[in-house]
Amino acid sequence: MTKPIHSLALISYHTSPLAALGGYKTGGMNVYVRELARELGRRGVRVDIFTRREAPTQPDIDTSLGEHVRVVHIDAGTYGVKDPNDLRADVPVFVKGIYKFAMQHDTGYDLIYSHYWLSGLVAEKLREAWRIPAVQMFHTLGAMKNRIASEPAPRVDLRVVDEMRIVRWADRVVAATQAEYAQLLWLYRTDRRKVSIVPPGVDAAQFTPRPREAARQAVGLQPGERMLLFVGRLEPLKAVDSVIRALAAIASVAPQTLKSVRFTIVGGEPGNPERKRLAALAERLDVARWVDFVGPKDHTQLPDYYSAAEVLLMPSDYESFGMVALEAMASGTPVIASNVGGLAYLVREAETGYLVPVRDPVALAERIRDVLADPVRRDAMGVAAHERAQQYDWRCIADQLMDVFTQARTSQRTRTGNI
Ligand code: UDP
Repeated sequence: MTKPIHSLALISYHTSPLAALGGYKTGGMNVYVRELARELGRRGVRVDIFTRREAPTQPDIDTSLGEHVRVVHIDAGTYGVKDPNDLRADVPVFVKGIYKFAMQHDTGYDLIYSHYWLSGLVAEKLREAWRIPAVQMFHTLGAMKNRIASEPAPRVDLRVVDEMRIVRWADRVVAATQAEYAQLLWLYRTDRRKVSIVPPGVDAAQFTPRPREAARQAVGLQPGERMLLFVGRLEPLKAVDSVIRALAAIASVAPQTLKSVRFTIVGGEPGNPERKRLAALAERLDVARWVDFVGPKDHTQLPDYYSAAEVLLMPSDYESFGMVALEAMASGTPVIASNVGGLAYLVREAETGYLVPVRDPVALAERIRDVLADPVRRDAMGVAAHERAQQYDWRCIADQLMDVFTQARTSQRTRTGNI
């Protein structure tokens, strides 16, 4: 019989689970690694998260994520934020640093769980040396990035080649949704038997409906004001400009609808280029008076934002999952999202929110008006959203992942004849 997993090496090479969220590059994956590690730690699984040291001030080991969880900072080339291709070149140094750490601390692991393409390259080396099973989750796939790039972006062919290799050797691959499963099969020719669909989770105790009035006060809403909310990294792929265009569309046909409406944008520091672009667009379309840029917020502050909002808007060009939509739903807030990727699975049309075509401000405007016009329906959708989110509680998701880890162990033993 396959033994259960007691210790895990989580690889999050290019970004730290301790990083502040809502920056250009820090979002869903950081939350995933952090929350999963915490949940496994609570169960007594020993988790070491290996991440690149971004600044000399970061300690070798950080234990702030809770019992049994250590964030281990490993030196890999120069400090600071780096381009993925430079990070790729530093993989061998990072791997060496992990070996050294494990040897110095006399530590071994039952399994490697690596996140994003670059960490897969790290896992590729570690599993050979340690002879343990490895599970990979990509979070985003290079082949999808190539397909949806709306403006000329550097193509990521080298990354795709790496990803193709990773799916060959990985003992198991975790897909967040049915859509990612299909992409792994059709774009990467992954062996379907090694792919498990396990979505990211949500902390259902933290993200739960809060008393509305208190939440509204906590986020600074004035009596009578109604908030439309966006939360996330500010980058063009999030298509926040669609909301600004939707506000302009509403203003042109039914300006009274926008009376007392605030469109609150959480995420994106003041210097963020997308934030500047959005602010300029709002000015140009004469809707700036309804738009508030409040910058990145700590995860612990978000439940108040979600609970205070009439609706969460996520009009992204693409989302492999969309944790923000799930957090809003868990908080009892309906979601209007574009009908793509993970969002198409999370949002049930007219039940927990609405799905609209990508970059269709008129359709988005109509749905915003629907929500604002019918508070009873809005509340019913919020209740249904909350209920639907419960199946994504990290406790359920961690159970499913533990099963995947066990399967990985079995397949690695079969492969190596080490039964
Ligand atoms: N987030 C946050 N503060 C911010 C902006 C975002 O804590 O100011 C968190 C948000 O709550 C979510 C994650 O960052 O957990 C974003 O994940 P999502 O899957 O929505 O988007 P991604 O960043 O993966 O594109």
